[in-house]
Amino acid sequence: MSVISVAGVEVDTRHWIGGRRVASEAAFDDVSPIDGKVLGQVSRGGRTEADAAVAAARDAFLLWSRMTAEERGVILFRLADLVEENIEALSILETTDNGSLLRSHRRGVMPRVAMNIRFFADYAINQLSHPVFETRGHDNHVSWDPSGVTVIITPWNAPLMLATWRIGPALASGDTVVLKPPEWAPLTASYFADLTEQAGMPAGVFNVVQGFGIEAGAPLTENPAVSRICFTGSVPTAKVIARAAAENLIPCSFELGGKSPTVILDDADLDLAVDLAIEQYDNAGQVCLAGTRLLVQEGIAEAFVERFRERAAQIRQGDPRDEETQIGPSIHLAHIERVQGFVDRAQRDGATIAYGGGVNTELGSHYFRPTLVVDARAGSEILTQEVFGPVLTMQTFRTDDEGLALANSTDFGLAACVVTGSRPRAEAFCKHLVAGTIWVNCFFVRDLSAPFGGSKKSGIGREGGLWSFDFYADVKNTVYAPNGWSQGGSNG
Ligand code: NAD
Repeated sequence: MSVISVAGVEVDTRHWIGGRRVASEAAFDDVSPIDGKVLGQVSRGGRTEADAAVAAARDAFLLWSRMTAEERGVILFRLADLVEENIEALSILETTDNGSLLRSHRRGVMPRVAMNIRFFADYAINQLSHPVFETRGHDNHVSWDPSGVTVIITPWNAPLMLATWRIGPALASGDTVVLKPPEWAPLTASYFADLTEQAGMPAGVFNVVQGFGIEAGAPLTENPAVSRICFTGSVPTAKVIARAAAENLIPCSFELGGKSPTVILDDADLDLAVDLAIEQYDNAGQVCLAGTRLLVQEGIAEAFVERFRERAAQIRQGDPRDEETQIGPSIHLAHIERVQGFVDRAQRDGATIAYGGGVNTELGSHYFRPTLVVDARAGSEILTQEVFGPVLTMQTFRTDDEGLALANSTDFGLAACVVTGSRPRAEAFCKHLVAGTIWVNCFFVRDLSAPFGGSKKSGIGREGGLWSFDFYADVKNTVYAPNGWSQGGSNG
């Protein structure tokens, strides 16, 4: 069946290519992490579908790229309105598909999806400046030209939010788009495709190819007709994509994993510190930005752990559709096995489980308990590799310099959270902290005009505001001479 009903929401499970639904002969099961049930079969694309989608996007580029930002804006604003009108349906789909909290989608995530579209459409119209400057009587005119076909590949932890954070600026720049959604949570991308049609987007401007990374994603990254590749996902996959992109010298924007520190200095408000630490379990720890390494200054470590345990015991884990639930399931049994492996190996290596430690079987097989690991060996994998589950580690340090060295001690540099009562101390600490985003006494405050991205292995490039256009657009400088004109005056 090509259209399935998910908790009353109808969604097409075929690809969306050139403005029409296309099925593949092969299909894969889409499983809900809430109860492990199969929601339906989704078209399993390969090179044929990937090539067809890029060709459709290439064809549509001529029309879309020659529209003005205002003309594209009419369609993109309508699309943002449609997302808002469909928040309930999108929220139900996303929750059922990836197990994240329904109330978060209704109140935060899906409104942000609409904002991702509206903000960048508005930016292209009202905020992109087109500088003109003079060089020895000649005029330089700088323009932000559309670049071509942008391929967007996304992970399962926040599928539609992460996709539209790239789709918004790509379409606003005048690029056309091929999206490859995650195979573990493919549904909202398909529903979103219907909304693009309802918004009046010309056929081929936005396309969706469903399927597995190696089958449907890889051919997209190998296609020489592609002008930009946006990838959000893990470091190993990024390396494969970078190699494919190198063959055709396609610019890439990579938003990758993290092993971010939450640094708690000894003058911190302890309640705030514990609240911020507990927040790192959000979305069952399946958040790239999560500050999973708790680094606590020695003098307050004991009091911190005690209060942390009390607060962790109050966390309500359960069905993500329930209003009271704070942590839902983990995405997939294979993923849970991976998370459990990290915890088991850490224990064998001498670490202690200070809280949680495994699956809460009373809730089902998908619910890994919020877990705190202490006394892990310095340099061990649980302290250096991304677990991407509800597992935090705690380490202590004596001086601020030691804390800083610990904070900077991994290959990642996506984000950091610092908790302290002293602004000068915070400023001194943050100055040498290596991270794309640092939150001081807060977490997850995001502004679409701020630069976002990762340092070290956490990514390549920055997006947000002007940084997004810098990537998607083909920036051009046209120099007009002062003379040689038979019509239209001297300087253009
Ligand atoms: P993943 O790298 O396994 O997969 C991500 C996407 O890439 C999927 O759609 C997958 O099908 C596709 N893919 C896999 N192999 C491919 C290939 N050879 N060619 C093209 N596409 C391919 O990551 P995941 O497990 O889905 O997601 C979790 C990871 O994403 C974590 O590392 C997390 O930190 C990261 N992430 C980063 C950000 C950020 O903004 N920095 C945001 C969310 C998630």
